[in-house]
Amino acid sequence: MIYEGVVYRPPSEADSLLVQVTIGCSWNRCTFCNMYKDKQYRIRSMEEIMADLREAVPYRDRIRRIFLCDGDALALPAPFLTKILEEIKRLFPSIDGVRVYASSRDVLQKEPRELESFAKLGLDMAYIGLESGSDKVLAAVNKGITKQEMIDAAARLRNAGIKQSVSVISGLGGEKMSKEHILETADALNKMQPEYLGMLVLHEGEDTGLYYVTEEQGLRVPSSRQVLEEMRLLIDRLELNDCFFTSAHVSNYFYVKGRLSREKQKILAQIDGAY
Ligand code: SF4
Repeated sequence: MIYEGVVYRPPSEADSLLVQVTIGCSWNRCTFCNMYKDKQYRIRSMEEIMADLREAVPYRDRIRRIFLCDGDALALPAPFLTKILEEIKRLFPSIDGVRVYASSRDVLQKEPRELESFAKLGLDMAYIGLESGSDKVLAAVNKGITKQEMIDAAARLRNAGIKQSVSVISGLGGEKMSKEHILETADALNKMQPEYLGMLVLHEGEDTGLYYVTEEQGLRVPSSRQVLEEMRLLIDRLELNDCFFTSAHVSNYFYVKGRLSREKQKILAQIDGAY
């Protein structure tokens, strides 16, 4: 198995087989993210990807899921991704699913029938960085996409049968736009209806590989109080049918988790207890 550079995966994919199908992120311009700044985006050759998959076959009884790295595997051309998914299905017929990081831009660039075909081949979840539902915040951090496009992409995934795990970032609006950032984020999430939601925190330090602060953006690491206030306001405003919330990401100061449909009050009480 060959890995190039630092390889990232969501906390919930800790036990998954990680296979790099692209190197870096095809966008790579979000001002708060340095995960792939040291990588020039490219698609790995099909031969390399197939060799990695074949190498893992002797261990397939221990592999439950496969996560396709790096930053946005859904940016791959549809026939290329289809070939990878078909080979995974052939070599690992018993796994529970294949997962990817994806930008909403990638989703909207795929035809609905292509997404449906990916789902049939085992792609069961996409990790999407919403970051904020505020168009002002999204523009300020150069996310390159709007709130409405995020909502449209979510509908396209849902219709195709692909679950969404969405992340948002506390502190991304700074102190000045904190309330707008959270209220707009809650509104976007209520329209997206993700199955999973994670809250990250704007982080400091260029070498952490985490979301980081750029002084030119006028952003500072939010205080723990601001994080708690933003988390509380967000959860209070969410109306999600069946969504599991977690703040387990390593960037966060405060860990809560629970199913929002039935444990919302319990989570709010835990946050209140942390003030
Ligand atoms: S946040 Fe996501 S889309 Fe933006 S640069 Fe980082 S990996 Fe790429």
